[in-house]
Amino acid sequence: MRINISEILANPSLVRDFEVCPEFEELELKSSSYPVSRKEPFTLSVTGEAGKLHIRGETEVRLTMPCDRCLDDVEITFPIQIDYRIRPDREEALLSEAGDRDSEIEDFDEYSFLDGCILDVDKLVSDEIVVALPTKVLCKEDCKGLCPVCGTNLNHSSCSCDRTVGDPRMAAIRDIFKDFNLNS
Ligand SMILES: [Zn+2]
Ligand SMILES: [Zn+2]
Repeated sequence: MRINISEILANPSLVRDFEVCPEFEELELKSSSYPVSRKEPFTLSVTGEAGKLHIRGETEVRLTMPCDRCLDDVEITFPIQIDYRIRPDREEALLSEAGDRDSEIEDFDEYSFLDGCILDVDKLVSDEIVVALPTKVLCKEDCKGLCPVCGTNLNHSSCSCDRTVGDPRMAAIRDIFKDFNLNS
């Protein structure tokens, strides 16, 4: 969802509340994407303050992410606290340089939700989620994971695999040693 804030840019004493709702159905990252299972409308306040924009809002987004061990779906709620004070002038200058991206410009990526007088609510919210993504996702602290031999989810059922010889690469190495012992 995009909102036009040209009115506020032209008249910095204006305060406007926008009723917005994120529209993205998935959080797409370079290597993976996670479905959005819950999102809701919220109020985004945009105020002009002495040449700066003050953007505030609060909401929650819930994503479905796979457990790192057993791959079961895990629902994770991200509280979103938006509170930006930015100078639109600098943003415009940066956008004109966008074709020539370097590490210096990378530092200003946090403002990528603003394109001239168009504010991209989806980008604003998804950026907040990206910085809050957990490094480890577990369905529960003591998740038993998957059997490395047959793939059974060991939280839900058990199997009779001998998991000490589970890794086929290890099995291949053991065979080599067996042959070696036989031939020597
Ligand atoms: Zn798990
Ligand atoms: Zn098994």
